[in-house]
Amino acid sequence: MTTPATPLLPGSTLGVLGGGQLGRMFVHAAQAMGYFTAVLDPDPESPAGLVSHQHIQTGYEDPDGLARLAQLSDAVTTEFENVPAVSLAALAGQCPVAPAARAVAVAQDRAQEKAHFVGCGVPCAPYAVIETAQQLAAVSADLLPGILKTARMGYDGKGQVRVKSAAELAAAWASVGQVACVLEKMLPLQLECSVIVARGADGASVHLPVQRNLHRDGILAVTEVYEGNLPPALASQAVAAAISIANGLDYVGVLCVEFFVLQDGSLVVNEIAPRPHNSGHYSQNACDVSQFELQVRTLAGLPLVQPRQHSAALMLNLLGDLWFAHGETAQTPAWDAVLQLPGTHLHLYGKTLAKHGRKMGHLNITAPTALQARATALQAAALLGIAPF
Ligand code: ATP
Ligand code: MG
Repeated sequence: MTTPATPLLPGSTLGVLGGGQLGRMFVHAAQAMGYFTAVLDPDPESPAGLVSHQHIQTGYEDPDGLARLAQLSDAVTTEFENVPAVSLAALAGQCPVAPAARAVAVAQDRAQEKAHFVGCGVPCAPYAVIETAQQLAAVSADLLPGILKTARMGYDGKGQVRVKSAAELAAAWASVGQVACVLEKMLPLQLECSVIVARGADGASVHLPVQRNLHRDGILAVTEVYEGNLPPALASQAVAAAISIANGLDYVGVLCVEFFVLQDGSLVVNEIAPRPHNSGHYSQNACDVSQFELQVRTLAGLPLVQPRQHSAALMLNLLGDLWFAHGETAQTPAWDAVLQLPGTHLHLYGKTLAKHGRKMGHLNITAPTALQARATALQAAALLGIAPF
């Protein structure tokens, strides 16, 4: 089952597999609309588990835990793509699940994902699948310099090695344990952007405005969304490509599609995430429907209404690094000073332990104009110790 036969109205229970920050914000959105929630995550202190009505503390593949989640929930979704597709498939035998295991499986595997892009006619980076020594030896020199990415389990730039020569490629493949990988040609990027699409079981979809993203060290740092953040023709092209990728998967739920814009202005799809995405967080404060409310609506089978952005917005990711002065001494970021700036909205995920590179929260900045939003965001960044952008 992917969707309920009739809409699940408030008072029903919505379940989520995974207890990270995306699950937490889904729970908040569901509860705001009057739903009960159930979270499955082994960590007793998981961000979503801490705020959910029910928290099942078992592994993602534990049959009893999954059965309990299905029994408590009227429908179940997922909040991170590395959740085993087999667990989603098992749940789907017991209650409605969206997105479907089949779509999540495609997003989990870079080789399948790229084959899907090709099938949809959306250009992606030239690539080769490397699963065997023969495939490694046969790699075309055209793909170098490139990035070797493990086919599965990568996030925030983890499981990626940049290589310039065949020798470096062989060493990189050995360093990741010769697991299945894709080698992608290194492309000359002008900028990066992404689109959040929400698609219902009837095939109708709505989307958020195109987000312009800045990554640092393979991790999203800043998202900017306002009129003119991208040339309009490019933005329309990205929306059309994202919708065709969702349609091709017969997707139900919230899907994020990440793109590269190359130096020559052409658009290339990078990857998809079968869930709300870090780059869509600005929608919580800048749009009349957030990406998490869209996730609630798609899961419950409620109508989808095209969201409207009412404020120019920037999102700054708050990584654990901000909790360390000069990279060493523990400190509390200057929240009071930041919150004195107009249009700042603080979102923290309830994680007690700050670590370098760990996503602890984000700051949304809204303003009537792009110029004002950017100026405030730069002030906030300076107060927090985030490098200017
Ligand atoms: P996440 O899931 O957190 O978005 P990830 O680990 O899946 O990240 P990718 O999105 O594949 O990683 O890559 C991370 C970043 O590395 C990209 O946003 C981009 O800045 C850079 N990058 C990745 N692939 C390429 C490429 N082929 N050419 C140039 N830059 C690239
Ligand atoms: Mg990415």
